[in-house]
Amino acid sequence: MVDTQFPATAASCLAGLPGRSDRLIDVVINTHHHGDHTSGNGIFRKAVKSFVAHENVPGLQMASAAKAGKGQTPVVADETFATSWRRELGDEVVTAQYFGNAHTSGDAIVHFEKANDVHMGDLVFNRMYPYIDVPSGANVQHWITVLEEAMKNYPSDAIYVSGHGKAEFGVEGTQDDLEVFRDHLSAMLEHVS
Ligand SMILES: [Zn+2]
Repeated sequence: MVDTQFPATAASCLAGLPGRSDRLIDVVINTHHHGDHTSGNGIFRKAVKSFVAHENVPGLQMASAAKAGKGQTPVVADETFATSWRRELGDEVVTAQYFGNAHTSGDAIVHFEKANDVHMGDLVFNRMYPYIDVPSGANVQHWITVLEEAMKNYPSDAIYVSGHGKAEFGVEGTQDDLEVFRDHLSAMLEHVS
């Protein structure tokens, strides 16, 4: 599984998974620390063998929780990685890779090799203005580089899933959508410079 959204939606997702019975979910990968991607971790915790994230993510989750000041302890990854992680799961091979600071300082790109499906997390806001989390290490210049690395590293015919998308475009796309967002960031950076 990739990301857990919010507690309420996580609960209905878990309840609605067909045919799971008491089997555990092998892995949940958090693409980054933001609450709309990790707040459902607590709901999934008892149903999941292992949570995986980039090594900077647990600290960023803790810092966000401390800042929110509601006394809540976030559920963080029990398995972290610095640059890449790989696991064979049934007949699928799943990898997570970190290409450096972009939307935050802990963005992972998740690739399901057999399904040919690449989850970009919030590295892509499809036809939307992005949230740029500077206190958590966002870097627009390097974000452009990360998108270019992704286009080189992953198959050109894969399905690319973005963390957010304008309704008419949705969150499921192609490398063309990565290019559009790369160009958006470049134009924005040039304008502001
Ligand atoms: Zn985000």
